[in-house]
Amino acid sequence: MKITWRLTLFSTFIVSVVILGMFFMLYENVKLSLMNSHRRHIIAVIRTYSRRGMFAGIRKIFLVVNGKVLSDPFSLTGKIPYKDGIYEYDGEYYIGVSLEVGDKKIFAASYVTTIVKGMQEVSHRLVLFAVAGIALSFFAAFTIANFSLSPLRRILRGIEGISASSLEKRLEVVGSGDELDTLAKEINRMLDRIERSYRAQERFVHDVSHELKNPLSSMKGFIGVLKKWGFDDEKIFHESTNEIEKSIDEMSSVVEELLMLSKEETTEEESVDVKSLVLEVLKDFHLRGSEREIEVEGEAVVRANPDYLKIIIRNLIDNALKYSEGRIWIKIKGCCLEVSDEGEGIPKEELDKIFDKFYRVDRSRDRRKGGHGIGLSLVKELAEKMKMRVEVESDLGKGSTFRVVWGEKS
Ligand code: ADP
Repeated sequence: MKITWRLTLFSTFIVSVVILGMFFMLYENVKLSLMNSHRRHIIAVIRTYSRRGMFAGIRKIFLVVNGKVLSDPFSLTGKIPYKDGIYEYDGEYYIGVSLEVGDKKIFAASYVTTIVKGMQEVSHRLVLFAVAGIALSFFAAFTIANFSLSPLRRILRGIEGISASSLEKRLEVVGSGDELDTLAKEINRMLDRIERSYRAQERFVHDVSHELKNPLSSMKGFIGVLKKWGFDDEKIFHESTNEIEKSIDEMSSVVEELLMLSKEETTEEESVDVKSLVLEVLKDFHLRGSEREIEVEGEAVVRANPDYLKIIIRNLIDNALKYSEGRIWIKIKGCCLEVSDEGEGIPKEELDKIFDKFYRVDRSRDRRKGGHGIGLSLVKELAEKMKMRVEVESDLGKGSTFRVVWGEKS
């Protein structure tokens, strides 16, 4: 059932109960006080006559004293019970009153048809008023509910018009300042977030396919070369297989880093000697043929996931190696770890984007250096998983410093 109808029926029900209750109480009170005043009048008449010892003077009241009928103007003898109450006999109404005066047990009944009929007429009118009141309250409740819910219907129509292909649409905020206006604002904020993540997903899918397309087409090319000349020329065979291997490595590292990024698990932390970890990473670089010297200074023990911290350090050193020719140095402090280089640097306006997935400052330059723009987003994500922070300072043409801050965690 629609909210408009629910609100209408609920408020009509409440109003009906109030109207009917009020009318019923009013009717019963008036009836009771009329009957009581009539009853008191009869008692007063009987007492007056009994003091004078002149019951015979009572003519307009049915009177029974000690079981003997003394006056019967309405022919009620034996027709009604001789007890208190209102009785109907032959289409007329009578009020019966029993009382004791001295040693006399008296029952009297008086004609009240006019009062009862009058009250019946009043009750019919009250019922008519009640029906009119209930109908009026129904229409009023429906109009108010309908009017109050019209912004909600507008919001619903707005939401219905939004789909994946029209995610840029927003709901109208009329500025009334009420709860529904706040709801529209909140939905718009939610749509902003959904649109952002949807666009990021779109970009992500596009970039992933693009990243995998390059090594795949390079592999295809080299397989073609292999098929043509690989059997006869050993040099071509070795060169082509090396290139294919490189492409496979590139694809595996993209996939591996993407998998790492999509992992939701929380980290297992332990005390890590940062200097040993840095030296371990440097050893790997040297084993893989890097001959550049990297200075390491200071030491610290920090609570971290050693695998994550190793990936972070490896990526920062890898970037320093890729994007600089000169000196590289690492400082380990109580608060943080810094990787600095005297390389090409990063333009100021790019600094907040380099942590986005697949973002590369200069696509063609960085691609030549073998980057695919995932390293820093992985660094940021893993640091955040360990409640750490990554900062960067860079001077174009002079060099960059990447800082992993663990702050209080050490
Ligand atoms: P990539 O795999 O391309 O290196 P990253 O996410 O690690 O991807 O880095 C994103 C971009 O940030 C890089 O393409 C590069 O342009 C820039 N960048 C990262 N580190 C440095 C650095 N030390 N010096 C200069 N530019 C850097």
